[in-house]
Amino acid sequence: MILNTNLAQKFYILTAISFLLFSGCQKNEESGLSDDAIFQISTIDALLAGDYEGRMSFAALHDRGNFGVGTIAAVDGEMVMLDGVAYQIRVDGVVSVVEGNETTPFAVVKNFRSEQELSLTNIADMEALSAFIDQSVPAKDALYAVRIDAEFDSLLLRSVPKQSEPYPPLADVVAKQTTFLQTNISGSLVGFRFPESANGINVIGYHFHFVSDDRTVGGHVLSFSMANGDVQIDQGSELILNLGG
Ligand SMILES: [Zn+2]
Repeated sequence: MILNTNLAQKFYILTAISFLLFSGCQKNEESGLSDDAIFQISTIDALLAGDYEGRMSFAALHDRGNFGVGTIAAVDGEMVMLDGVAYQIRVDGVVSVVEGNETTPFAVVKNFRSEQELSLTNIADMEALSAFIDQSVPAKDALYAVRIDAEFDSLLLRSVPKQSEPYPPLADVVAKQTTFLQTNISGSLVGFRFPESANGINVIGYHFHFVSDDRTVGGHVLSFSMANGDVQIDQGSELILNLGG
């Protein structure tokens, strides 16, 4: 893809911030990444524009994180990575483990290490969750990986159908999404919080994918209400953006 000036500026800013915060971080031996690095393939703007070509294998992605969200080549469903295992949720709702030789056009991952923990009770919706976490995190303009293990009263999930070339824009694909309404289900929300400065790079605010405790239900999270849950938060000190083909 072409790195436009606007994006290049944003990337520079994030890189500059990360450079300042970088010293003292541990490095992962496999990838050379800092343990506090968030690693991303492509950008949300490229995905929205219909760039669904697989850019990196899941084997390589696993070297860069054990926790994350994204999709599979040709947007063949939703992807959630938890405890080092990547799950694919196809448009029919079937959940399977992603093979290492499959590829992703867009994903964001981190080696998750909980730095802050919060307890949730009676969270009515995403807005309430966002407000609760926002007021609890130390830096409002930072990047965070967020894991929530919870019992949900209700949970609305979606997945999208696999595409073939020429790829349509993501809005056309989402118009054909399938939604799954679950009630009284336990599982994990896996996601990230990106600040306004990452506009165009990733989803601003909170973006969660879900996988159930028994790994049979999952998807991109549209809405929910939860009785209780445990939040783990891991602040990322830098964003490594891979735009390679
Ligand atoms: Zn998603």
